[in-house]
Amino acid sequence: MARPLRQKRGVQWGLQHWRIARIMRNLDNGEQVHIGWGGTCKQHSNEWDDIVPDPDTKKTQTVCKKALIFADSGMTSEEAELRMKHWLIAGTSIACDDPTGRMTHLAMNPRTLMLLTDDQLLAQLP
Ligand SMILES: [Zn+2]
Repeated sequence: MARPLRQKRGVQWGLQHWRIARIMRNLDNGEQVHIGWGGTCKQHSNEWDDIVPDPDTKKTQTVCKKALIFADSGMTSEEAELRMKHWLIAGTSIACDDPTGRMTHLAMNPRTLMLLTDDQLLAQLP
């Protein structure tokens, strides 16, 4: 059985606190296969989220982020990456202090956002 997905640290893109990262699946033979892209927004939380950092890992429990798996969907890696970036930009329409902000942002489906080029996306940065 394949081991769990692993998201690499990723790189900054767009706004200072955004990250875009490859999502890898570990195969039994030790190989890693690139299967998706993850976007980390960090701008939104729900009022019921546990936003106190875990005392052991020092990581915040709930971060606004989303994954888009392109493997087996017919979508290319490039398209999935652009759609993940568009998801980050689409989230800027949600106020940072919205009490349901993370839920609202996660409800946005990157597969249904318009496919734009990297330059077109960067031109939409707030
Ligand atoms: Zn967000």
